[in-house]
Order: sequence, then C-alpha cells, then structure tokens
Amino acid sequence: MSTDDVSTGEKPAKPKRYNFKAEIQQLLDLLIHSVYASKDIFLRELISNAADALEKVRFAEVQGETVHDPGRALEIELETREEGDQKILVVRDSGIGMTAEELRTNIGTIAHSGATAFMERLKEEGKSPDLSLIGRFGVGFYAVFMAADKVVVTSRSAQPDASTATWTSTGAGSFTIETSDEERPRGTEIAIHLKADEDRFADPHTLRATIHKYSNFIPFPVKVEGETANQTTALWREPESQVSEEQYNEFFRFVSFAAGDPRMRLHFSADSPLQFSALLFVPESNPEALGFGDDEVRLQLYVRRVLIDSENKDLLPNYLRFVKGVVESEDLPLNISRETLQENRYVVKMREILTKKLLGMFEKLASEKPDEYREFWRAFGRFLKEGYSDFANRDRIHGLLRFNSSTHSDQEGLTSLGEYVERMGEDRDTIYYLTGASRDALAQDPRLELFRKNDIEVLYLYEPADEFVLSGVGEFEGKKLASADQAKPEELGGGSATTPEEGDEPASDIGALIDRVKALLGDRVTDVRASERLVDSPACLVSDDGMSSHMDRMMRMMNKDAEIPKRTLELNPSHPLIRDLRALVEKDADDPFVGLATEQMFEGALLADGYLADPHRLVARMNEVLTEAARSKAGDSSS
Ligand code: ADP
Repeated sequence: MSTDDVSTGEKPAKPKRYNFKAEIQQLLDLLIHSVYASKDIFLRELISNAADALEKVRFAEVQGETVHDPGRALEIELETREEGDQKILVVRDSGIGMTAEELRTNIGTIAHSGATAFMERLKEEGKSPDLSLIGRFGVGFYAVFMAADKVVVTSRSAQPDASTATWTSTGAGSFTIETSDEERPRGTEIAIHLKADEDRFADPHTLRATIHKYSNFIPFPVKVEGETANQTTALWREPESQVSEEQYNEFFRFVSFAAGDPRMRLHFSADSPLQFSALLFVPESNPEALGFGDDEVRLQLYVRRVLIDSENKDLLPNYLRFVKGVVESEDLPLNISRETLQENRYVVKMREILTKKLLGMFEKLASEKPDEYREFWRAFGRFLKEGYSDFANRDRIHGLLRFNSSTHSDQEGLTSLGEYVERMGEDRDTIYYLTGASRDALAQDPRLELFRKNDIEVLYLYEPADEFVLSGVGEFEGKKLASADQAKPEELGGGSATTPEEGDEPASDIGALIDRVKALLGDRVTDVRASERLVDSPACLVSDDGMSSHMDRMMRMMNKDAEIPKRTLELNPSHPLIRDLRALVEKDADDPFVGLATEQMFEGALLADGYLADPHRLVARMNEVLTEAARSKAGDSSS
C-alpha cells in the first residue's frame, strides 16, 4: 500500500491542492454544463460505487483481513440536510473506503482512457448524447457534477491505521485533499451540494423513486431517512428454495414491466467453468403481439452486484427476445463497456449456456406437459420459428416446432415433426407439407386428394414463415421433407388416384382439350397436363420447381405482391366436367363455353391457394356459368 505523505500524517495536514488530469477536466466541463434530462443517473453511479465498496469490504472480511470496524452493517444511506439556502444530499456507505492517496488517484489524477473514450462516444452521438452510459466507461463518479456545484468526499479506509481523508472540489480545474485524525466509522460519505435547480434530489420521494428505478436490486439495503428504499433482495442469487412464488412474481413484474405472473421461469447458478447466475422468465403473452415494440433481446446484466447493462442484447439470440430477466456474472470485469461485451468470451459462453438451458426447459415442458407447451407455442411459436438461424441448436429447434396437420379435426390441433414420424411408419421416407391460405383451404385442397385417399399425413402450413422454416429443415430423423405438390403420384403408394371407370378412354385422350386450355391460358401457366393426383376435383395448380417456388410464395405472401407465380394446371381426365369439356372441344374446337369453364377452373384453383387478388371477375363468370347451366336445364325439361 502506498504511504504517500497525504495518507498518513501524524497531525492534521493542511489541504493540498491537485489539478484534475486533463481528460477528466474536459469530462467535468461537459458534465457541469450538460442539459441532459436524466441527471438522476448520477445516483445510480454513486450507489453502484457504494455497493462495490461494500462488496470489497465483504470480500476482505471473508478473506480474513483485518478491517477497521469489523462486522459493521453493510449498507448505503441517503440523507439530506440544509446549510442556509444550500441543500445537501449525502450518500454514505460502510464500504472499503479510500485513503487520501486513493482519493487523489481514483478521483482526479489517474490518467483515464475511459474519460476520453466516453467523450468520443458522446461526440459520435451528436446533439442529444446518452450520458447514462458514463458508468460503462469507468468514470461514473463524475456524473455527480451534473447535479452538484460542490462535492465533498470524506472517507475512512478499511485499512486499520488509515486517517480520515477529505476530497473537495467544485469541478473547476482542481480539488483539495485533507487528512484528519478524527476517528470515523469505516466507509465513504459524499456530500453533494446541489445546484439550485437540481434540489429535487434533496426530496426523499425523488430519492426513493430513483433508487427504485435504477438500484432496486442492489443487494445491500439502500436507506432513505432510515428506511430501506430498495424493496427486493437479489433474488437471482438466492437458492431457489429460499424464494417464494410471490417474490418471483414480483421480480418478474419488475424486470419485464409486465402485469400478471410469468408463464415459466429458469433460475440457476453455474460455478464452473463460468460463475454466473440467471433468473429468466417467459411472460404469459407476447408483448409484440400487443403492439409493444420489443424486437431485441433485453436482459439485465449485473457484474458482481452492479448493473452493467439494463438492456443487454448479447446474452441470448434474438429469437429468444420474449425472455425477460437478469443475469449476473462473477467473471466479467466491472468496467467492461457495452461495445466489447458482444465479443467477450465469457458473454459468448454464457449465451450458449443460457440458450441451451432455455431450449431444455421448453423441451421438458413439451414432453411433460404437452397442453401447456401448446399454449406456450401459440404465444411464442413464431419466435422459435425464427430460430431456424441458430445452426448450433438446429435439431433442438426442429424438435420444438409444431404444426397443424391433416390428422387434426380443426386448427387447434398441433403436431411435432417427431409425432409425424411416429405415425408415418417405417416404410415411408418423406414428411409432406403444403402451404395454403388457411387450414380450411388446405383441408379442401385438390392437390391433397391422393394423400387423403391413401391416408398420408400432410402438415398444413398457413402462417407466413412456416414454409420458409420447413423448407430449411430439409431432413428430420432421417426422413426428408417435401412439399406435397411436389410429390410424384407413385410416391404416394399406388400410382394414379383416378380409378378409370369402365369404358373410359385413357387419360392421354384429353390431348385436344389440353391444347385448347393451353391456348386459352397462354403464359399464365407453365404447362397444362393430365393429372394423376386428382380424385374428386376437375383441376388444380402445381408448382414444378420446388424450393424456388416455396420462397417465391412466401415472399409474395409477405409482400402482398399481386403478381401470381406461374404453375402447371393439371386436369383430372375422369372428372365429369373434364370429360364433357373434352366432348365439347371434339365437337367444336372454339366452343365459347370451354373458354368460360377454363377461366373459371383456373381462377378457382388460384382462389383455393389464396392467390386470387380480385374475385370480381370470378363471381361475374360464375353467374354466366349458372345462366348457361340453367338454360340447358330449362331446355332439357322443355324438350
Ligand atoms: P468506476 O467505479 O467505474 O471505477 P468511478 O469514477 O465511479 O469509476 O469511480 C472511480 C473509483 O473511485 C472506483 O473505482 C473506486 O475505486 C473509487 N470509489 C468511488 N466511489 C467509492 C466509494 N463509495 N467507496 C470506495 N471507493 C470508491
């Protein structure tokens, strides 16, 4: 320990004057003249420092070091007093304290790269810089000069033989240090002579509110007028058995700004290789769905009891942004800046562990309480779908996905890929899915007729990201995934869906009709052909180009693009409509009813897929068709 002349001194030495280091003085000038709106952050900084000092003395005692005032209560007190017109706020702690030498270096003369870095950062931010970042640059103490025109720090170091030392400054160029033999209790007292227009900080209500806002979970009592103002202990550091449900719920409301109780929680402490604890919650409902913008992860990050980042984005992947809570690391350096957190190896490792733990919690819920998992999925499934980008946890995310399928009777039903595989049987090798406008549309979709006939399950995808996510899965438990409209009829166990009736001519014989339909639809379709997949419907549209068409459809659905993707029209040769149209074409290649019917079949297929932008023509044409049908009926009955 340094024993500079100012720190010992047999008799009270007269005040010594020191100049602030240049970069500190620049910072002070900036702070003193700042019009920053949230000046209350200075309290957070002082309370953080006090908590830190308390933690240090706690550590020293635990290490068996001899400290001044052993066993003294570890706490922080805020008091106000007046000297004439001058209002003074006192922040006092029973922490490690500072010797005169420590006061001199820590507050004023130590060269501080953080001060320079912080000012550069502010310059980058321009007009309304965020001064609340100051603590992250290791110069948080100086924030007090936003609210003070004079600051007096009196400290009694925990070192048994130290003198009481006093640091005094108005922030203008220099400070003085004075020692005295006056015995005082261990710790530091900061007397803040408030600027006239900042005297609200002498109001206990303001103090309590500020403590609640920034320092509620500081794990030492923070007292205002003798009463503890921070209500809650650092719950995440407690063993789970020591925390009541109500405490968890209160804490959840505090960290998430939500009402109600959490849906799930994850509370754990790790000791090796990293030492950290976490208390994370999944809310009941998705705040984004309620229109509260929240599209980034925001966890509170504490480092050894000090709140380092109240909106940390690095501790979880973004698809888990619905998770709220606190993480506390024992390994990170206290003065780490938010910019470097992202690359910090401890942060990277914590993120891996937290992600795995959360996925594990979801998996457990899915296997033990499937009904609750379904509820969870309905609220947060869309976030997990975004997890397709988390390659390290790909398989686990795929296991958590849920879809409605042809085995369900309504859209409440949900299945996992694993359950699909269990049902599909060993002999099949493909998990089928189909995208459509809605569950109802899919349940009626003519492209699935052969699937229905052969009892082959199809996942129904009718939410925007579904197809995108599933086409990225590629393979699950050794079974490949494919869009149902890509399936070759022979894959579906039993060739043609059509069971030609006695006397039917072969499918190829609708060639003349196909030529006519091709001519009518022109480049609105890529091709027209006889279908082997249709059972009950006359026609359907299928895509020919797999992946690109999935992506295409998804992009169009998201962009509400009016342009329709081009596909192939398949006609069902054994359907009565197609048979009659064939007969009409063979009689008169230009029969206008064939044109009408073709347009109607084509738009009907588009409508079924959710691609028909404007149904007006379809309705008008429908009336024409009905008129035609009624006329021929009337003609039939009159003849
Ligand atoms: P930081 O706390 O990030 O290091 P500050 O500017 O807030 O930066 O504080 C500078 C240093 O002054 C601290 O690192 C600490 O050593 C000392 N200090 C500040 N407040 C106290 C206190 N209440 N008790 C003991 N030491 C303190």
